[in-house]
Amino acid sequence: MSKQSFTQISDEQFQYCLELESEWRKNRKYISEYEILQDIPDALPIIWAKIIEWHGKQLIAEKTIRAQAKIVNEVCVDEFLRWFTLEFLSIQPIGKELAECYRQLDRLRGLKSHLESKSQHNKQQLPIEQARTTPIDLIAARYTSLRMRGHRMYGLCPLHQEKTASFTLYLDSNSFYCHGCHIGGDVIKLIQQMEGIGFLEAVELLAKEVL
Ligand SMILES: [Zn+2]
Repeated sequence: MSKQSFTQISDEQFQYCLELESEWRKNRKYISEYEILQDIPDALPIIWAKIIEWHGKQLIAEKTIRAQAKIVNEVCVDEFLRWFTLEFLSIQPIGKELAECYRQLDRLRGLKSHLESKSQHNKQQLPIEQARTTPIDLIAARYTSLRMRGHRMYGLCPLHQEKTASFTLYLDSNSFYCHGCHIGGDVIKLIQQMEGIGFLEAVELLAKEVL
């Protein structure tokens, strides 16, 4: 509590508030995140969404670090110098960001399994909804290289042979459509088409991916 937030009170009154605050802190029972979540029925979908968000950040950070590490491995012939440079990379902002991603994901996955064990019935419906929100560009990027234009991304279609890019990702709706072979749909459909698997298998694959 700071004085700035109270413009209208005297020093004396502020002092009294400080005493009240310290008393309140002393008497307040420590409540864990787990306990707080018990009382929030929507907590599980929020945690799922957060896991997907942090997982997306993790993939981007890993990609950046991998690219940098590749350069280090190519440039540094000396083994010690290579080790030193890689260690140095890990304490750079991007390395710290990745560490934070791992930390947050650990925490969120812990909360998720705790909540799931409490509410078994949520298990059936959620994976499908959540699989559908996996960022389609992260998945599509594995099969073709993509270029951004506005809210869309374009690339050569991984589903048919072509020389001009007609495979389009619509980031707003997290979906795809190929103007060449006329196949389109959501991220689940994309995985199904690429891996030649059924709907539930694709959902399972996406769930494993982020969870
Ligand atoms: Zn196509």
